[in-house]
Amino acid sequence: MHVVVNAAMSTDGKLSSRRRTQLEISGPRDFERVADLRAASDAVMVGIGTVLADDPSLSVDTDRARTREHQGNPPQPARIVADSRARTPTDADLLDSAAAVYVCVSEAAPRNRVDALAAANAVPITAGTDRVDLPRALRALEDEGIERLLVEGGGELIYSFFAADLVDELTVFVGSVIIGGRDAPTLVDGDGFVDAYPRLALDDVDKLDDGVLLRFSVPNRSP
Ligand code: NAP
Repeated sequence: MHVVVNAAMSTDGKLSSRRRTQLEISGPRDFERVADLRAASDAVMVGIGTVLADDPSLSVDTDRARTREHQGNPPQPARIVADSRARTPTDADLLDSAAAVYVCVSEAAPRNRVDALAAANAVPITAGTDRVDLPRALRALEDEGIERLLVEGGGELIYSFFAADLVDELTVFVGSVIIGGRDAPTLVDGDGFVDAYPRLALDDVDKLDDGVLLRFSVPNRSP
């Protein structure tokens, strides 16, 4: 599976403020770029923290949906949530039945919550004991035909993707705004690295809107 991580961060590396509400960090050209990236993906994945904070639909517009159909793809990319305890609300926007939805849960997820999600258009994928085991979950998603995965955040999930050496490309829009705050989410949170820091290759830099788009690849990623 080819994994692209994409996010927008402030000049000081934050994905959002300490209030964790959605913030417009990028501008119209970056929104279009992200829409194209989504439309070129088999699936778009976020962590449950992002679902609870932003309630994203992870959808593409009708023009892009039509183009996808002409190319023989489902109109909308599939949606995936990393959600160890099946906390995704059954009225979440991404469960709107316009696309296939996979909720990756752990064995610790309450049965009744998993059943409720299955009844609300989601396909549960169990991987991991207490937390979603990403390599296992991705193998199961590959069996569902997902080859190109776009990971849109947040910082906890992005850390786990790097920690498990699952990232092929990182694109990050750096906006011209300072957010600050020791408790505000950053691009890569989790436990953080103290050695074996993932090293990236900078492939491209573009001025876009009022910020900069950085494109990195991950050399020497294990196959
Ligand atoms: P997150 O990364 O969206 O979700 C983290 C949660 O996912 C974890 O707490 C965990 O909860 C669950 N999870 C399950 N398996 C996991 C695994 N293997 N590794 C990591 N997490 C796993 O949450 P976040 O870091 O708090 O980010 C949310 C914030 O980021 C919001 O403020 C949102 O607005 C912002 N955001 C910004 C952008 C941007 O581009 N600027 C994009 C996305 C999000 P369980 O243990 O309960 O499963």
